[in-house]
Amino acid sequence: MAEHESLEFGKADFVLLDNVSLEEFMANLKLRFEKGRIYTYIGEVVVSVNPYRAMNIYGRDTIEQYKGRELYERPPHLFAIADAAYKAMKRRNKDTCIVISGESGAGKTEASKYIMQYIAAITNPGQRAEVERVKNMLLKSNCVLEAFGNAKTNRNDNSSRFGKYMDINFDFKGDPIGGHINNYLLEKSLRCVTKTPHCYSLGCLQLVKGGPDSLLRSLHVSKDPTAYNYIRVGGQVKVRLSSINDTADFKAVADAMKVIGFTAEEIQTVYKILASILHLGNLRFGVDGDTTLIENPKVVELIGGLLATKEESVEKALLYRTVATGRDVIDKQHTAQEAGYGRDALAKAMYERMFCWIVGRINDVIEVKNYDAKVHGKNTVIGVLDIYGFEIFQNNSFEQFCINYCNEKLQQLFIQLVLTQEQEEYQREGIPWKHIDYFNNQVIVDLVELQHKGIFSVLDEACMNVGKVTDEVFLQGLNSKLAKHAHYTSRKLSPTDKSLEFDRDFRVRHYAGDVVYSVVGFIDKNKDTLFQDFKRLLYNSSNPVLKVMWPEGKLSITEVTKRPLTAATLFKNSMIALVENLACKEPYYVRCIKPNEVKSPLLFEQERCRHQVEYLGLLENVRVRRAGFANRQEYPRFLQRYKMISEFTWPNHDLRSDREAVKMLLQSCGLEHDVAYGKTKVFIRTPRTLFSLEEQRAEM
Ligand code: ATP
Ligand code: MG
Repeated sequence: MAEHESLEFGKADFVLLDNVSLEEFMANLKLRFEKGRIYTYIGEVVVSVNPYRAMNIYGRDTIEQYKGRELYERPPHLFAIADAAYKAMKRRNKDTCIVISGESGAGKTEASKYIMQYIAAITNPGQRAEVERVKNMLLKSNCVLEAFGNAKTNRNDNSSRFGKYMDINFDFKGDPIGGHINNYLLEKSLRCVTKTPHCYSLGCLQLVKGGPDSLLRSLHVSKDPTAYNYIRVGGQVKVRLSSINDTADFKAVADAMKVIGFTAEEIQTVYKILASILHLGNLRFGVDGDTTLIENPKVVELIGGLLATKEESVEKALLYRTVATGRDVIDKQHTAQEAGYGRDALAKAMYERMFCWIVGRINDVIEVKNYDAKVHGKNTVIGVLDIYGFEIFQNNSFEQFCINYCNEKLQQLFIQLVLTQEQEEYQREGIPWKHIDYFNNQVIVDLVELQHKGIFSVLDEACMNVGKVTDEVFLQGLNSKLAKHAHYTSRKLSPTDKSLEFDRDFRVRHYAGDVVYSVVGFIDKNKDTLFQDFKRLLYNSSNPVLKVMWPEGKLSITEVTKRPLTAATLFKNSMIALVENLACKEPYYVRCIKPNEVKSPLLFEQERCRHQVEYLGLLENVRVRRAGFANRQEYPRFLQRYKMISEFTWPNHDLRSDREAVKMLLQSCGLEHDVAYGKTKVFIRTPRTLFSLEEQRAEM
């Protein structure tokens, strides 16, 4: 139990609840939120509730309080978890990872930043210049990634639209020497081209609102955001984002890029790409007889200039598609609608390529090079995963499906790791362990990812159909393959089910709840087609920075034979790799909860929170934790804390070992029935015992 907290703040650890019920859980969570205690433990898991106000708990003093301490010695805090992960890494040479989950706006990215700041603050006591440089790079990279990977959505003003996994590498002294970033599924439809209100890329917006006049002039970009279709929202732009100071932010990102080592030419190219995207969004297509044409050719000229390609080539790529028929190569004209689709696809793809290229450039700089373990000792890692939580919207599409699959994978990992780790610890310590059952979601993971039978496979098959490739064909495939699956149903299979409103709906019973998906758009998003003409256009740019983002443009039309991997397959592969990577590390969890929809520091919406507690599986988590032992402490630590309770141990014991002394102590206070003695640790089964110890200690 955490120190320095009286019960008026509720229980600092949910395993200390008298009864593990949803009611008690919620009451404790609410009480703590209202008392400004935003963190609570479940054993070694931190549950965090977004305070939506600046908290004075991240400063230097607080960092000092947590440095090197054990979890239960201080009130619950992210810093304690960060410290635990760091200690495990440093003392036991373990690779560790911190997995942060929760829905949009729950506070994941903020948490990941505080964790990084904590690690930066407690390392490099010797002030080695090289380590300081690395730390600076790691912190700066966050700022750049946020600028280009975040968007304002109606749920979060600064919403990460990509999942981020960052490894920090440490040398034998425990100082950071480098890192690596992986990014997952940049949600393209939300990035720059969007029909959703209040949702646009900060990258583009920052340029328009914060870019210096001379730069904007050179890019032919106006300072008026309403001039751009891609950032205009229903005719009006909510430009004054309360939390965002545009000019300063623009400069901060530019400076961060410089510090990381982006060249002036590279930074200019990034601006040019953003500007081209904005201009692209304003292109209008029309028809004249049989001819599709661009109604505002001036814009094409601008784009050509920015992308260092010929204006005619831009125009041709937008209006025609080169197709190979047998040995002939012909230019096939787009309809105006197709051209519009192509334009949006190009804008999205340019943004995504640019983002991935930026991540790649950051990795070039921060990656550990020339590390010789023989000379420098073992290189260990702490990974921090800031990933999108489970999503249930009014309309759920391919993106939500991917995101929810990701959460199934992480839940599966949680089940495996929590269980195996508990079991291993009991085994190691020679304690008998009784298996407890709870829902294993492997069956849903399989439903999505199994070869030939899973939803992703059915989707890929539908995309490869010769002839008709429609979302409906995909749905038929699902219905025929998965009709009997307990976690799948659709309107066709369950016609009387009220939640399946439309013919195109299917439903997956996720571990976190039922989600109805609409198949509309699955095929397009999965194929993620970008006409080869665009790839060639950009590859042939005379701007070398832009050119490297489009290596496949090298191929001529007759050489393009291999189908690119689908979005689903790429995502699945990246998730499998992520889970493999996490599985070999010792995990620490932060579970973030969003208390209300209106960003209020005061409001604890009971229903919303209850829902999150349920789908994060927090109650299950408490039960698993309690079915084992609520608390475990190494013998010397335990004595240090409680030795004043017993005459046998106070002020010092003369028994053969600390283990014996702890036995005597617990016997003398009649608590022996509730504990088990491992080789190096005492295991306390119920929180009541810990309470009782704490009380007796307080009375001394
Ligand atoms: P998304 O999935 O959309 O990226 P997220 O979980 O990463 O969401 P954050 O961007 O971390 O959410 O948090 C949303 C907002 O909530 C922040 O911009 C900030 O205003 C507020 N917030 C979150 N955590 C804290 C905190 N610990 N202290 C103060 N404010 C916070
Ligand atoms: Mg985020």
